[in-house]
Amino acid sequence: MAVTEAAPATTAHEGILRRQSLRESAARTYARSLPIVPVRARGLTIEGADGRRYLDCLSGSGTLALGHNHPVVLEAIKKVIDSGAPLHVPDLATPVKDAFTTELFETLPRSFADQARVQFCGPAGTDAVEAALALVRTATGRSGILAFAGACHGMTAGALTVSGGAPDVQVTRLPYPQDYRCPFGIGGARGSELAGNWTANLLDDPRSGVVPPAGMILEPVQGEGGVIPGPDSWMRRMRKITGDRSIPLIADEVQTGVGRTGAFWAVEHSGIVPDVMVMSKAIGGSLPLAVIVYRSELDCGEPGTHAGTFRGNQLAMAAGAATLAHVRENRLAERAADLGARMIGRLRGLATDHPVIGDVRGRGLMIGLELVDPEAAEAASTEAARTTAAADARGPGAGVPAPDGPSPADPVLAAAVQRACLARGLIVELGGRHASVVRLLPPLTLTDEQAEAVLDRLADALSAAERAVHGRLDTCPRTEPPPPFPPAAQGSTP
Ligand code: PLP
Repeated sequence: MAVTEAAPATTAHEGILRRQSLRESAARTYARSLPIVPVRARGLTIEGADGRRYLDCLSGSGTLALGHNHPVVLEAIKKVIDSGAPLHVPDLATPVKDAFTTELFETLPRSFADQARVQFCGPAGTDAVEAALALVRTATGRSGILAFAGACHGMTAGALTVSGGAPDVQVTRLPYPQDYRCPFGIGGARGSELAGNWTANLLDDPRSGVVPPAGMILEPVQGEGGVIPGPDSWMRRMRKITGDRSIPLIADEVQTGVGRTGAFWAVEHSGIVPDVMVMSKAIGGSLPLAVIVYRSELDCGEPGTHAGTFRGNQLAMAAGAATLAHVRENRLAERAADLGARMIGRLRGLATDHPVIGDVRGRGLMIGLELVDPEAAEAASTEAARTTAAADARGPGAGVPAPDGPSPADPVLAAAVQRACLARGLIVELGGRHASVVRLLPPLTLTDEQAEAVLDRLADALSAAERAVHGRLDTCPRTEPPPPFPPAAQGSTP
């Protein structure tokens, strides 16, 4: 047989991408916006089949708390393989599972862990959400669920109904407090207080039409909804409202858990203890794993309730236990809080030069940049002023209020920023109600230097995308040094 020369790397890369688009479902997502072919990865860096390197701030949709192929994760996986242990058993007891559960309970607030139960369910976050909904419905005998606008809890039927945008008669949709696009138009402490009042009022009004709730499900920080942190005072209010009315509170920590927001579990910021915690993503150390942990009083399901074949992935449990222990022992949650605050500070500095950055928000290393179109807002305001003047001329009461508040979201610019980031070797995610929020979910092991490189590339990409989309002059010329990156507090770099 004739020896043929290996095809050049770029050809192989293009062929793989072409075959993917020919063979895979129209439902594919990241594959469209991130046309790369990862072949190697370590820490923050992914190497593509085309030989290019990328800084990965998508982190497997927030799964990789320690980045790609962290040595402690690889070591834990190798240990299980070398031991001859079974790789998969449904929900049987194994030493690997025992060690995972012990480590998981070690990370929980003591008062919760002391009387908690854990259920291993199917391997995805959405499975755990289904299990949580089934648990509280069985325990309370009620069927309604309280959930929040903008929420994302997964893609299976029950999880979809509690996610924003999916109407369901059993689900009462409540306002999630947010400063930038506050549903009450005021934001801040008062906006969040009104969101709480709305919830309490709806539950206490005998004519509100709320289906008696089996539970309330919330994300301590809405991730896919646009990186919106629930204020601590509002979290405490939700705990009190649900506690006073015997409604189990379910905290969905699928994305916020394992140090991501600057506390090991995001509920710790407010000091609340939920009745149920939903966990997935990082708890499997990059492999699929999901559990719910809950107060033992709720444990009244029949054997087989929300069972599934894939509840016993030993490699995921070993990788997960190693990840949990590494984050805990190296205080990576504190590191995420410190570094995240400094990154947000620098991005806010960038926003002063770029009016298209409507808002910079986040908690820890869960960061979002909402992109807007200020010119569209100006045009709308001029049009409103013109309409108002015409209405005033027609007589009292016919006036149209001029639009105020935030500028319209700019998903076109956000997509252009994502492309420009990729061209500069930076992978970012998009999210938010209007897909206009550029999201950063870097690993908790991110160094100061890497953070600086990420922000430099993002700033450069933003300027380029602005020029491309709006044909505007570069408001942040490349020759001008970016705002300084604040130094770490003494001793905070691991
Ligand atoms: N809950 C939250 C808060 C999420 O962000 C997600 C996914 O992003 C899910 C649940 C669903 O998890 P999975 O995609 O593993 O089903």
